[in-house]
Amino acid sequence: MKYVLVTGGVVSGLGKGVTASSIGVLLKSCGFRVTSIKIDPYLNTDAGTMSPFEHGEVFVLDDGGEVDLDLGNYERFLDIKLTRDNNITTGKIYQSVIDKERRGDYLGKTVQVVPHITDEIQEWIERVAMNPVDGTEESADVCVIELGGTIGDIESMPFIEALGQFSYHVGPGNFCLVHVSLVPVLNVVGEQKTKPTQHSVRGLRGLGLMPDILACRSTQPLEEHVKVKLAQFCHVPMPNIIDLHDVTNIWHIPLLLRDQKAHEAILKVLDLQCVGKVTREPQLFEWTERASRCDRLKTPVRIAMVGKYTGLSDSYLSVIKALLHASVALDRKLVVDWVPSCDLEDSTAEEAPDAYEKAWESLKGANGVLVPGGFGDRGVQGKILAAKYAREKNIPYLGICLGMQIAVIEFARSIMKLHGANSTEFDPTTKTPCVIFMPEGSKTHMGATMRLGSRRTFFQVTNCKSAKLYGNVSYVDERHRHRYEVNPDMVLEFEKAGLSFVGRDESGKRMEIIELPTHRFFVGVQFHPEFKSRPGKPSPLFLGLIAASSGQLDQRGIISKTGRCISNTEGAPKLKACQNGHLMKPLKGLVNGHYSTTGNGAIPI
Ligand code: GLN
Repeated sequence: MKYVLVTGGVVSGLGKGVTASSIGVLLKSCGFRVTSIKIDPYLNTDAGTMSPFEHGEVFVLDDGGEVDLDLGNYERFLDIKLTRDNNITTGKIYQSVIDKERRGDYLGKTVQVVPHITDEIQEWIERVAMNPVDGTEESADVCVIELGGTIGDIESMPFIEALGQFSYHVGPGNFCLVHVSLVPVLNVVGEQKTKPTQHSVRGLRGLGLMPDILACRSTQPLEEHVKVKLAQFCHVPMPNIIDLHDVTNIWHIPLLLRDQKAHEAILKVLDLQCVGKVTREPQLFEWTERASRCDRLKTPVRIAMVGKYTGLSDSYLSVIKALLHASVALDRKLVVDWVPSCDLEDSTAEEAPDAYEKAWESLKGANGVLVPGGFGDRGVQGKILAAKYAREKNIPYLGICLGMQIAVIEFARSIMKLHGANSTEFDPTTKTPCVIFMPEGSKTHMGATMRLGSRRTFFQVTNCKSAKLYGNVSYVDERHRHRYEVNPDMVLEFEKAGLSFVGRDESGKRMEIIELPTHRFFVGVQFHPEFKSRPGKPSPLFLGLIAASSGQLDQRGIISKTGRCISNTEGAPKLKACQNGHLMKPLKGLVNGHYSTTGNGAIPI
């Protein structure tokens, strides 16, 4: 196993995650299997209890791990599936060491940061790096490790020490350190300044880590004499100084790295050049095509994102990426109109009329509406108004998790005239609970107590838009993160009133997908399809939303321009065994809501 460590200097927010993912893409295109580990030096055990507003979205993995959003970048860029252990936090490391101490594993020794914490970090990295991530049984050749935070942070010290020891432990030729730094321009003359990078490299060396490659973030390409200076003062050879200037879209980054032969520099450090049969010149045809197509897109598709955290786009990062994947596949330029849901509410009309007007103007100007996942009652009324607007005006709507629950509440209130209908999340004493707390949840503990990770949804009817978008498969595996669900006791009533529950879990009691058959595109899902969308394989439901919003979804719910749409439903059996519209029995072989891989097709009843 070879390791590439990516650290960051000078300031945070340099795009270290994208750089690290792009390095992975480059190495993958040279013929290597690549995995990744993200280190977050905070004390939280995982990202599950962290506010998206402070920290960006919580990314959910197949195994139910609630992790840092950078793992989403790795999964998307490298098309791999990671596990919760691929995200190391200080909390996890300390917890593991303390558990060992309680078990008596340290045989009476004084347990200390060095060597016990640092050893734990190294063992963790070596163990997790070996986990296969690309759907085969084989381990990766290279593990890209990203150290969160900036060099010099107190929190990251034990990790720096551990990684210093680790580089020594794995030996020369097995470890490559890429330091991502900033080269700012200060005055009107536009001189590129190297001093911040010099300082941060000095800091790194002082902590026992020697950079092999410098990746310099700047607004414009680095000038030649600036590279010479950096090489001289930072003791890094010229070919190993990589210029990462601002680009029009992030898919250019792997290309930028390749054009500067960053792969050659890395492979040289990792002693991988002579493995002639594996190494090849990175072609990156798909990346080149996608990056330039994205730049050329002209026809806009406007999507109103009606959410709580509209001030920080990272809060809904995967949703935005999934929208982008679908828009690029359907030749549309994505325009996201952020609509703070509170601003749609009547109370805002009085308190802040300008904000109210702006919010409604954005909603009305949109081609499609998306209500993403969320927690808590703030802004819920605004989301209900958005769902009502989309339903009544026949505007394409995709509701994700909370966005689906909202649509159900709105339907109950407006169509079924159940005016007090609500979720017990927002009104625990409601007389008409159409969304309820799931029996298996915990009301006292917040961390990792939701219904999390990959669960199977079985289509109940073939003649619905979502089944068609998913390619007429009988079931789909998507990732979940919720505590509440549609009240199973009200499902019949809802169906009589015209709301169709086209996807359910294996028990048939938990609602997973809703649709309004008479609407152009009105879909709500209890799961989060955004987490499995990939640049070359957009999520089918996002494709549906963009297709419907740009006039490319026909009456039958089929995208007219199918050539480019490759959905991500690999492996699931087709619905062929069923006749149109027939209900299906769930598959056998499911244990506690988790799927086994033995299911083989839907059975009509
Ligand atoms: N708050 C809702 C629940 O827990 C929705 C969660 C979500 O949107 N991820 O069920």
